[in-house]
Amino acid sequence: MLETLRRFANACNDVLCVSQENHTTNKVKLQHLCYRTIKERYGLQANLVIRAIARVAEAARKKLKPSKPKKFKPTSMSLDQRTFSFNEKRWEVSISTVAGRLKLPLAIGNFQRELLTGQKPTSATLCYRRCMKAFSINIVVNREVPLPPQNGNVIGVDRGIYNLATTSSGLRFSGRQAMHVRRRYARLRQALQAKGTKGAKRLLQRLSGRKRRFIADLNHRIAKAIVNSCKPGDVIVMEDLRYIRERIRAAKEQRLLQHSWAFGQLGKCIEYKATERGIRVVYVDPRHTSQRCPRCGCTNRSNRHRHLFRCTSCGFVGHADIVAATNIRQVYLETLADGPPSVGPEAASSRKPRALG
Ligand SMILES: [Zn+2]
Repeated sequence: MLETLRRFANACNDVLCVSQENHTTNKVKLQHLCYRTIKERYGLQANLVIRAIARVAEAARKKLKPSKPKKFKPTSMSLDQRTFSFNEKRWEVSISTVAGRLKLPLAIGNFQRELLTGQKPTSATLCYRRCMKAFSINIVVNREVPLPPQNGNVIGVDRGIYNLATTSSGLRFSGRQAMHVRRRYARLRQALQAKGTKGAKRLLQRLSGRKRRFIADLNHRIAKAIVNSCKPGDVIVMEDLRYIRERIRAAKEQRLLQHSWAFGQLGKCIEYKATERGIRVVYVDPRHTSQRCPRCGCTNRSNRHRHLFRCTSCGFVGHADIVAATNIRQVYLETLADGPPSVGPEAASSRKPRALG
C-alpha cells in the first residue's frame, strides 16, 4: 500500500510537470498528454492514473499556493469504482495496489457501520498517517435527507471573532480560546521563522497543521451545538460571506478578513449537519446587521460598539453579537415577505481568501 501511495504521488508530480509545461489544467487534455507514459512508468492500475490526473487538475484549478509549485506527498490516494469496493457482509474493503487487489478488514464502530449499511459506495480516499504508521480510509456515502416541513422557528447566526458564533436564540460561543491559540501559534511561528533552520521549518509546518485541525474541530463542535439546539423544520439564517467581505473592507477590519476561511468552514459545517436533520440553511445580505436597532429600526454606525449595542435614537441596549444575530433573522423574515429567499451554499466558499495566521 505504501509503495502504491508513493507511486501515486510521483505520478501526480509528473502530471503536474506536464500540466505546467503545457499550460493546461484540463483533465481531458492532460489525459491525452500523459496517461500512457505515466501508466507505463509507474505500473499503476488504469483508474489510479486517471485519478492522479484528476487530482492534479483539481488542485491546479483551486490554485493551492500559487507562489510555490505544489508537490504531492505519498499520504493519500483517490479511489473510484474500479479501484475500490466495499463488502458489507464481511465489513471489508478491496483496494487496487501495485501488488494486486488487497482485501482489508475495516476497524470501525457502530456509528460507521450504520452509515455504511445498505450503501454501495463508489468513491473513497485512502490516507496514511505517518505519525501513527496507520492507514485510514474515507468512504463517501449518500444519505437520504428528509424534506423539511415549513413551519419551524427561524434562528439567526452571527459569526465573528470575539464570539465565533452567536445565535438569536441566545447561544454564544466565545472566541477567546481560538484567539489564544492563534496568538500562541503566531508567536511560535515568529520565533521559528527567525531561527530559519530546516528543523524549524518542519516544526512550523506541523504546527500550522495542528492549528488548522484545532480550528476545524472547534468549528465542528460549535456547528453541532447549534444544530442540536434546533429541530427539524427550523431555518438557520447566516450572513452570506460575499457580503461580509465587502463590509470588512469598508471597516478595514483586516483581522476579520484573515479569519474568514474559518467562518466559511463553520458555515459549511452548520450547513451539512443541519441538512442531515431536516433543518434548512439560508444566507442573507448582512449589510447593516450590526448597526440596526432591533427595537426602532434606526440604523447608525455609532450604534455599534465593540461588544455593546446602544441605539442612539431610542436608547435600546443589548449585546452587539446577539443584536446582529437577531437582525440576520429579521432580514430573512423580511425577504420572505418580498419573495423567495436565496437558499444554498455560499458562493464565497469557492474563493477563499488567504489562510493567514
Ligand atoms: Zn432604537
